[in-house]
Amino acid sequence: MSAKPSSKVSPIQIGVISLTCVAGIGLIGAMVTQRLGIGEAEATGQAERPSGLAAFGDLAQLATADFAVEPRSLTQVSRRLGRGETLSDLLIDLGASPAEAHRALQPIFEADYIDPRRVRPGLSATLTLEAGGEEDAPARLVAVNLRSEAETSLISTAREDGRFDATRLQARLTAAPLRVAGEVTTSLYEAALQQGAGDQQVVDFAKIFAYDVDFQREIHPGDKFEIVYESMVDERGRPVRLGNVIFASLDGKALARDFYYHVPSDDEVSDYFDANGDSATKFLMKTPINGARLSSRFGNRRHPISGYTRLHKGTDFAAPTGTPIYAAGHGTVERASRYGGYGNYVRIRHANGYQTAYAHMSRYGPGIRSGRSVRQGDIVGYVGSTGASTGPHLHYEVLVNGRHVDAMRLNFPTGRKLSETPEMMEEFLARKADVDDMRADLGASLVLTSGEADTPVGG
Ligand SMILES: [Zn+2]
Repeated sequence: MSAKPSSKVSPIQIGVISLTCVAGIGLIGAMVTQRLGIGEAEATGQAERPSGLAAFGDLAQLATADFAVEPRSLTQVSRRLGRGETLSDLLIDLGASPAEAHRALQPIFEADYIDPRRVRPGLSATLTLEAGGEEDAPARLVAVNLRSEAETSLISTAREDGRFDATRLQARLTAAPLRVAGEVTTSLYEAALQQGAGDQQVVDFAKIFAYDVDFQREIHPGDKFEIVYESMVDERGRPVRLGNVIFASLDGKALARDFYYHVPSDDEVSDYFDANGDSATKFLMKTPINGARLSSRFGNRRHPISGYTRLHKGTDFAAPTGTPIYAAGHGTVERASRYGGYGNYVRIRHANGYQTAYAHMSRYGPGIRSGRSVRQGDIVGYVGSTGASTGPHLHYEVLVNGRHVDAMRLNFPTGRKLSETPEMMEEFLARKADVDDMRADLGASLVLTSGEADTPVGG
């Protein structure tokens, strides 16, 4: 964590990891944070990264330098726009006079660079102020630099006559993929972050493997990983934005598999495919909750209260109240209401005779009502302890043609197999060869991790 001191999300991540991380593998903590802390993540998005800030750190100085004919005493102050605050409020708070704030913002609005009614909190403003000639004379506003995205800067600079000119500066960005690889020591999350990957890249990595691996229980110290992801760099080669994961590999005790990002040209549905052209995406997710501890398996057990032995028709996951629960697959909500001992209960009907059910929830996910269709990964509700429950947990059931089955032992139908469409397989193999070339350029040794049928590099 110390590698990213400016990330405001970090303290929360530490909290979540310590709450939910049983095996000492902290990756899932990050995923939970990412999902719980959506507002926070938006407010402190890419622009908050030190690299993003650095990319434009000099622009205000650069702009003011053009207007600085003689040595002047300049100071810079900056802050982000708060909720419910106007840009004018922000500028005045940072030291501009109301008249200056108006004159500086007017050309920005007139040029339609920003719609004043749609200014988002989180936008950052940097003011360059010049000290007055006399000791107690008020500082004069010389320049305003507004940034909402890492690569765009709006600069309004004062002219001699006191009016302002606005310019929009767009950094010239080029794509430069980055690669991180290593061994899991304490946490995959920390190992990847230490090497420069962003939170989002690690979360995406976990999502790619979420169908095959239970990150809470099946990632072990010594497991090897590799992530190649897109990044955009500015003219000076500094990364200003991190993007999609292009390649993800895990070589661990539980699983050894490589996945390549690819968009087949026939259906244009982007997905991750292994070396054989099989999609990483499956019909149902292995577990519909992150960061939870499996507290009771499917099968016969002695009931804690009655003492009788009876069939436990689901799998229990202990997790803090409020932890989001995801729809395991696409489908239609059949029921979202109180249901006896199940408490707040949601059941989803999926294709092929499958149903999944989620019980004891504290509340329902946004828009979850009977008859509504849901996508895999939508939030159906939040962990709670409603109904016959002794503590906060998710009781999760899977039914096949009306019969309860053990979700942990199911081999779900897989997603698309490109090998069924020869032209699409050919296209994928060309893409895969490009990605492998890219990995070799970035230092990968290209030793097969998966032992699957593979094609020679560049072939
Ligand atoms: Zn249960």
